[in-house]
Parts: sequence; C-alpha cells; structure tokens
Amino acid sequence: MAQLSVLVVEDSLVQRTALAEMCLELGAGDVAVADNGRTALKAIDGRAEEFDLLICDLEMPDMNGIELVDLLAARSTGSGLIILSGREESLIYAVGLMASRRGLRVLGSVKKPMTRDALTKIFSDCRAQQDQSSALSASKPSRPVTLQRLQHAIGQRELVLHYQPKMNLADMSLHGVEALVRIQEEDGSLIYPDRFIAVSEQEGLIDYLSLEVLRLALEQKNRWNSQGLNTVISINLSAASFQNNIFCDAVLDNIQAMEADAKNIIFEVTETAVIQDMTRALAVLTRLRLAGCGLSLDDYGTGYSSVKQLSQIPFTELKVDRSLIDGIAGKGHLQVIFENTLKMCNELGITLVAEGIEQPADLDFLCRSGCPVGQGYLFSPPIAESDFIHWYQAGMPTLNH
Ligand code: C2E
Ligand code: MG
Ligand code: MG
Repeated sequence: MAQLSVLVVEDSLVQRTALAEMCLELGAGDVAVADNGRTALKAIDGRAEEFDLLICDLEMPDMNGIELVDLLAARSTGSGLIILSGREESLIYAVGLMASRRGLRVLGSVKKPMTRDALTKIFSDCRAQQDQSSALSASKPSRPVTLQRLQHAIGQRELVLHYQPKMNLADMSLHGVEALVRIQEEDGSLIYPDRFIAVSEQEGLIDYLSLEVLRLALEQKNRWNSQGLNTVISINLSAASFQNNIFCDAVLDNIQAMEADAKNIIFEVTETAVIQDMTRALAVLTRLRLAGCGLSLDDYGTGYSSVKQLSQIPFTELKVDRSLIDGIAGKGHLQVIFENTLKMCNELGITLVAEGIEQPADLDFLCRSGCPVGQGYLFSPPIAESDFIHWYQAGMPTLNH
C-alpha cells in the first residue's frame, strides 16, 4: 500500500504531536508538522513533491486556516485537505465547502478531537482517491472533445448509455433506472459526459444528442420489458434545449412513434438549468408533464434556487445532490437540511431521491429518516446494458465496502 506523506498544521503542541504520532502509527511514510499557516507554506514550498495530505486546524495565531486555504488555492495545490477544528460542525463544513469551491481537493471536515477511526478512514479515502485519479487520468482526461469528434460520435452512432439503479429504500426493490450517456471509442474505452455535454451545447448539437439518448433509452426499455424488467427510465435534459420549441415537439413525437408509455419516462433537469431561464423552462417542462412524463429536479442543493421558484414547475421528483448526502450520518447540519427537504417533498407530494450514496452508515441514516429513494455507488455505479440485467437478475446485490 502506498505510504502517504502528511503535513499536520496545528498550533497546540500537544495536539500536533499526538496527531503526528497517530499518522505514523497508521502507516504514513513521511509526517511533517507546522504550528501555523505561514510555517506550513514554508514546509510545502520547501519540498520537491506535494504532500499527499494536509491536515489543517482552523484557528491558529499569525496565519489561520482560512488564510492558509486561500493561499493554497492560489498555488493550485493537488494535496488532499482535511479541515480540523473544535468549532461547530456547520462552520467547519462551510470552510470545507469554500475550499472545494476554490478548487482544493477537500477530503473532509472533522470536529476535534481527531479519533483513530476518523484518521483511518481519511487515510483510506486519500489512498482510494489517489488510485482513482491515476486510473481516471489514464481513461478519463477532462479535456473537451473536438467538434469533429463529437459529430463523428453522433453520426456514427458511438453514443452508448450506461444505467444506474434508483432503489426504493423501504424494501430495496428497484424504483427506476437513470440513463447516462458516454461515447464508446473503437477500442472500447469510454468518454464521459463531462468532456462532451458542454461542447454539444456550445456547438448546437445538444438537441441531436438528447434525441439520440431518448431513442436509445426507449429501445432499451422495450428490450427490458421483454426480459421481464418493467421499470421507469430517467433521461437527463440540458437547459440549452429549452430555447427551442421544436425540441419538445420532437421528444413527444419520438415517444409516440416508439409507442412508449410517457408515465414510464422521467426527464431530469438541473436546478441551475431551470433558474437560468425560468419562462422557457416552464414552457417545455409543463408540456412534457402534461403529456404524462415525470419531471425531476437534479443536483438539488448545488444552485441558488428558492423553493418559491421551484414550486412554479410541476416537478414529480427531487434529487438531493451528493454533496449534501456524502457523510450525512456524521454531520448534524446536513441531517437538518435533509430532514426539512424531505418534509417539504412529502408535503408537496414529490418523491425525494438521495444521490451519491457510497457509505453504509449514510444509507442507514437515510433509511431511518424515511428517505423513499436512493441512488449511488453503494448499490451500483452506472453500468452497461448487459451488466445491468445480470445485476438485476442476481437479486441486485449491494456493493460491500
Ligand atoms: P447527474 O445526472 O447528476 O448524474 C449522476 C452522476 O454522478 C453520474 O456521472 C454518475 O456516474 C455519478 N454518480 C452516481 N452515483 C455516484 C456516487 O455514489 N458517487 C459518485 N462520486 N458519483 C456518483 P456521469 O455519468 O459522469 O454524468 C455526469 C453528468 O453528466 C450527469 O450528472 C448529467 O448532468 C450529465 N449527463 C449524463 N448523461 C447525460 C445526457 O444524456 N444528457 C445530458 N444533457 N446530460 C447528461
Ligand atoms: Mg441526472
Ligand atoms: Mg445529479
């Protein structure tokens, strides 16, 4: 297992020493210490390689943790960052959020005292992220694809869908499936949507892409029906498609031509997409809803929408973003936000879906609070058609971490 290099930034000598010793006991290869932000920067700048992990206290004399976060962001450091403080959870979380908005790789926000269990988990997350990012940098660079590549992919039918289950948490039965698009290259490797959705929008190709995704999803649904898997399928739509009335006509025509039941299709749109152009979003989404399709508000909690704005659109589902779900079992303020959102959804008759569930403890919390539907790697990552039917027929086993 790779040995981590760690910098502990903490003004209390006792806490600094205890934490550094714990790091060494848990197998860190190289542990440095600093008593405030300024000495931390000296230690960082004095090394040829970046630390794998920075564990930073918030309140320190001379240069505190917030100033340090600012300077680290300006240096675009790639080290994993843990915010550590004795202050209230919501404050520690807010600093973590600020740091990740500034581009830092925040691995967690921890309330003091750091326990052995918490540090063990941090080390394993840090190693897992390093493994994942080296795998991703080989297979999933974030450079956007070119217009020619995109045209080729759409023209040559290289778009494929992967499917991720949404589970009913009360009985762990299948609630529905989200279709997520990828470009499949000749050698079988995949290009992920973060590299081509924005280009499709800028180059005016997003409507073609969305209609192709709809066609593939409805064909898949017919195949699943004949295999005894009768489920609702969710498709993501882009805000750019709201500019064009013809797009909505084409969607409804395709649904009719493929004799699909609109009740079994949900269209997902992000909060930001809806707010960008409320009037147009309302026009398109209301027509889709009138035709019988479900409407889902995706990535809820990442934008700046108000409940009042959102209540103007007849959503049937609300997907709480992963950033509000990850680690919820141990974060009191996320629990309050979640429980209030769930109460609002229940009162409005909207189905709440918790996105990005990875940890069994988070799933336990969600089940206990009465969350109806969940989605995330804990159940399954998005997988190809053939893997999906196998997973379903094998009784939908949950991944064990
Ligand atoms: P999204 O609709 O919010 O989809 C969920 C994304 O989160 C997917 O990434 C999925 O792989 C990932 N995910 C699911 N569970 C977990 C988890 O437990 N942990 C983590 N870390 N991630 C999880 P993907 O497939 O790369 O898609 C990214 C985004 O691209 C989607 O976010 C959606 O906004 C967009 N997208 C995907 N397919 C389409 C499409 O057909 N049309 C349009 N317009 N956008 C699409
Ligand atoms: Mg989605
Ligand atoms: Mg989402």
